[in-house]
Amino acid sequence: MYTLIVKETFEAAHTIPEHSGKCKNLHGHSYRVEAEFSGDELDSMGMVKDFADLKKAVRRILPDHTYLNDVLDGPTTAEYIAQWIFTHLKQDDLPVTAVTVWETENCGCLYKP
Ligand SMILES: [Zn+2]
Repeated sequence: MYTLIVKETFEAAHTIPEHSGKCKNLHGHSYRVEAEFSGDELDSMGMVKDFADLKKAVRRILPDHTYLNDVLDGPTTAEYIAQWIFTHLKQDDLPVTAVTVWETENCGCLYKP
């Protein structure tokens, strides 16, 4: 089994209104995203998928320079953002197996159903 990993970034603002701490205030993050794609067969070029195609697909989905509360149909936590990106990649018929969203340098969520 091969797992390809594509890293991208996006900038976005959000609030978590129910949060009792500072996350209820409007603020932004430079999110880092790692998407994993798996396959057990290689094509004639020796690839599971072309990295360029995967990067393009991930970039198209990311809610760059948006207000996440208006874009997502759920809470704007790293957990839900990872699930949201995963679902959209799956809908594009890509062999996605996991998505990690890093909200800060040290805090992220790996979504791997
Ligand atoms: Zn935040």
